[in-house]
Amino acid sequence: MSKVVKFGGSSLANAEQFQKVGSIIRSDSERRYVVPSAPGKRFGSDTKVTDMLYACYDLAEQERDFAKELRDIEERYQEIIDGLGLEISLKEEFRVIEKSFREKAGSNYAASRGEYLNGIIMAAYLGYEFVDAATVIFFSENGEFDGERTNQILSERLAGCEKAVVPGFYGAMPDGTVKTFSRGGSDITGSIVAKAVKADVYENWTDVSGFLVADPRIIHHPQAIDVITYRELRELAYMGATVLHEEAIFPVRQEGIPINIRNTNAPEDAGTWIVGSTCQKSRYVITGIAGKKGFCCVNIEKDMMNSEIGFGRKVLQVFEENGISFEHVPSGIDTMTVFVHQDEFVDKEQKVVAGIHRVGNPDSIDIESDLALIAVVGRGMKSTRGTAGRIFSALAHSNVNVKMIDQGSSELNIIIGVANEDFETAIRAIYDIFVVTKL
Ligand code: ASP
Repeated sequence: MSKVVKFGGSSLANAEQFQKVGSIIRSDSERRYVVPSAPGKRFGSDTKVTDMLYACYDLAEQERDFAKELRDIEERYQEIIDGLGLEISLKEEFRVIEKSFREKAGSNYAASRGEYLNGIIMAAYLGYEFVDAATVIFFSENGEFDGERTNQILSERLAGCEKAVVPGFYGAMPDGTVKTFSRGGSDITGSIVAKAVKADVYENWTDVSGFLVADPRIIHHPQAIDVITYRELRELAYMGATVLHEEAIFPVRQEGIPINIRNTNAPEDAGTWIVGSTCQKSRYVITGIAGKKGFCCVNIEKDMMNSEIGFGRKVLQVFEENGISFEHVPSGIDTMTVFVHQDEFVDKEQKVVAGIHRVGNPDSIDIESDLALIAVVGRGMKSTRGTAGRIFSALAHSNVNVKMIDQGSSELNIIIGVANEDFETAIRAIYDIFVVTKL
């Protein structure tokens, strides 16, 4: 049995957090492969080491003095080393980093040093082997992650290591230069490592006890989700629920490896299990609610639209030609509505309107702005009658006007469009009816 354990920045922000991580790892001998992030914030107004590195490298690139900024970063690590009572020194590493910054090694290289150095400390602290991610995780020429090459080399490399630390967030381009994933990308590394070693579970340790049914900024102390499927998670993540990097589910999903989100500050909590499929019912009919503000809808009317072949395609092509992606396209007999992100659309709206007139000759086009979309997600909805009814009566009781309804054919989610200003009220009403009162 083997487990891959990834620890986020807040779990490794200082020596005290490292000690918690150390005891979590030592308490289970199956936790053999460790993927650390860079040190995160120690307190609310603190700066993540990754952000310090970006800022420091910016100065280097502008050929300004960056000695103090680099020293501050070195001190963050020294504080951890001293706090853990380790004998190692990062002096030589910092000398190389300084030289590389002067030679303009690139911001990807700069940012990756956060994980790289934390990996060295973690390996020394645990007595695990250190495996530099640049030697086992690869990107192809076009900058995309090269899953095949990575899996081959990484699995061979780790087959020879009983216990290892692989720093998160970066890998190497074919010419050997360092490249990072997008922000929060250590989650992806963890998933890649789990796939390579065919782990039994990918534990992702963070500072919350898993996914919550709703956003804690809107709902006071929401319930945690025990088990969620990959598909449900995709829906919620797309709508803004963030705990795990969106791309982190793909490598493990292919292998059927479950992800367990855990809390470093409350290791006794079971956290959330993310699985391919499950016969476990969720505690409530819905698994989660998430949403986003800032949408616009373009309502298009044309008599006999329903019998005009190709009308929808022509309209959507106008959005495509203007580089705007659409979110939802609910339609009626003689109407069609296209939901788009307001900030993507604003500058191009008149071009889009003119384009639709040109290709489709509609009777009218009307634009509505400042809308929010809310996704109510749950594998349980399929087998429960009246879910939609409960949602809409809850919204009506809270005086929320529903502007759009979209239920996907998967019956996994119901998407509701409301005015931006009704967003929080709507989420509270839905949470209330399914989780609090369970009416
Ligand atoms: N340290 C990187 C970031 O701050 C990557 C990560 O933490 O996953 O985005």
